[in-house]
Amino acid sequence: MKISVVIPVYNEEENLIPLYQALQAALDGSPDFEWEAVLVNDGSSDSSLQVLTKLAQENPQHLCVVSLRRNFGQTAAIAAGIDHANGEVIVLMDADLQNDPADIPAMLKKIEEGYDVVSGWRIRRKDTFLTRTLPSRIANWLISVVTGVHLHDYGCTLKAYRREVITGFRLYGEMHRFIPAYASSVGARILEVPVNHHPRRFGKTKYGLNRTIKVILDLFTVKFLLSYSNKPIYLFGGTGIVLILVSLATLVFLALRKIIYTTSVFDSPLFQMSTMFIILGFQSILMGFIAELLVRTYHESQQKPTYIVHKVINNQIPENSLPIEQQV
Ligand code: UDP
Ligand code: MG
Repeated sequence: MKISVVIPVYNEEENLIPLYQALQAALDGSPDFEWEAVLVNDGSSDSSLQVLTKLAQENPQHLCVVSLRRNFGQTAAIAAGIDHANGEVIVLMDADLQNDPADIPAMLKKIEEGYDVVSGWRIRRKDTFLTRTLPSRIANWLISVVTGVHLHDYGCTLKAYRREVITGFRLYGEMHRFIPAYASSVGARILEVPVNHHPRRFGKTKYGLNRTIKVILDLFTVKFLLSYSNKPIYLFGGTGIVLILVSLATLVFLALRKIIYTTSVFDSPLFQMSTMFIILGFQSILMGFIAELLVRTYHESQQKPTYIVHKVINNQIPENSLPIEQQV
């Protein structure tokens, strides 16, 4: 088995050598797997790139360095690393030594046992409580409820993936944390294992409280893409129909009240509200039609099928006439 450890690096000059040593200590000499580390320099302004270049020259068999032109953000750096990784198993982790490479072999064992995603869980997290740990607990709960994939620690970067479950989609925004939810939507088996977490020794964290807001916005997108990207009319049309039905019921109520008690329909804002919601309801349905057109363009322009095949036995159709996703 070949594994690739993908690590985004942004201004981590003091961490890189200890990081490489820790990787060597954890992964060298195992008879079960070969390893490489893909370190992605995300436009660092310190000497990270120089340190990485030197490390890569000294260890060509284990180290691949990808350097981005400017700072694109952690998610983009991870995506670049995945694109340059050769392994059948891809392990993601941070460069700041808060994650511990010593946890990797145990995670690989679980992959060998047949899991597709092994997700690290920082049981004893060493970050400030109010700005990091607490928002992260709330975010984990919310993501679990919304996506239906229950994990204690979406934010922990240290996770191992079988290659097939993470290469089928593109990562945008802060979305690397949602990879397990995507993987689950293509049928991956997911396991959570406790991992070590250390305080940051060198350099400083690149994030604060404002990341939580981005994560919540991304969550809306992910939910929409996971549940409705094939059938947006169900969401827009469903909302529209509910609005129209509630408004019609209100109008019937107003009409009956007028007939029985002769109360004017204009004595409360209900009449105006109902008419407005009926219009909104129709608008929503029409938006659903537009979204349906977009979905067709999306799937057909990229030849993306609306399904994912696990295995085909005895098929006679030549490989290259199948949709892209199906060609292994
Ligand atoms: N990182 C990156 N690009 C960025 C910000 C961060 O590649 O724009 C990397 C960073 O070098 C580290 C990882 O992403 O390896 C996690 O960053 P950090 O430790 O600051 O996040 P925290 O652990 O505090 O959530
Ligand atoms: Mg960190």
